[in-house]
Amino acid sequence: MKKKKKKNVFLKIIGSSSILSIAFAMVILICVLMIFDFFGAKLTKEKIQSNAEYADAYKISANKYLKNGYVPLQRILYFHLEDTSLTIDALYTMNQNSESKTAREIDVVCEDPRVKNMVACTEINIKENEEYLVVSTGHFNFPLDDNYTITSFYNEERVIYGEHNVHGGWDFATPAQTPIYSVCSGTVEKVTFTQTENIPYDQSGNSVGNLIRVRCDEDYDETYYVVYAHLYPHSSKVKVGDKVNHWTELASVGTTGHSTGNHLHYQVENANGERIDGMQLIDFTLSNQNSNYKDFPTLNDPKYDLGINGSTLN
Ligand SMILES: [Zn+2]
Repeated sequence: MKKKKKKNVFLKIIGSSSILSIAFAMVILICVLMIFDFFGAKLTKEKIQSNAEYADAYKISANKYLKNGYVPLQRILYFHLEDTSLTIDALYTMNQNSESKTAREIDVVCEDPRVKNMVACTEINIKENEEYLVVSTGHFNFPLDDNYTITSFYNEERVIYGEHNVHGGWDFATPAQTPIYSVCSGTVEKVTFTQTENIPYDQSGNSVGNLIRVRCDEDYDETYYVVYAHLYPHSSKVKVGDKVNHWTELASVGTTGHSTGNHLHYQVENANGERIDGMQLIDFTLSNQNSNYKDFPTLNDPKYDLGINGSTLN
């Protein structure tokens, strides 16, 4: 009873002053417009990581189209948040250049009549979201041959064994003992094979199971660290200190550690130890056909404008 009376008093005050009630209506209107992203779909780290409701649809599209180029979920959300009638699937292909096997530049996508008149395609909005709309120029090769299914993507919001987390890498499900290749040229830094059976359990509490970590610094002006995890017991073909190249076979797929089935966990860190999207570094035009290092594009290959002097390679 007391509560109701208070509410009435509140409404009375607003009702009694026309300036106050106009202001009140404005506040409500602005809130509603913000909810519907009327002022443009500004992407934030939080928005990209609150992706549970898009995760399944995104994985279906990524599994269909990834081999013809990677389109990150954030690029899809950039448009989808403004117009949900554009499906994740349609936006994946719209943002993909299947000839160059990369994501299209945002300006090119914005020529498409389906998105042309969106707030997302205004100069100011593109500028504001710049950091999320970049197109990758990496030249890692893919860590597996063709036969795999993406079961989890980088930054995916998920619950594993009852625990909520944001995934730091990419998971590719594929049969046990499928070969895994180095994605770059560099040096093996860590080889940890504590698990001797291919079961998702590790007494040491090591969640990533058997793993190999490679420092990639021989064909980039930046250093990246690549972690391959849940590896099959005793499958390592390299040891700490070994030099590896693109397509060097490292080990094979298993389900060791905190894992629910045979898969490769592929994770990339930058020089500061921050996890980054390793898929952005993959060049999908590179195939295992030219696994001989001599055939692999070198620093001087005009295909890669690395902006560094070839002499840094030693
Ligand atoms: Zn994983």
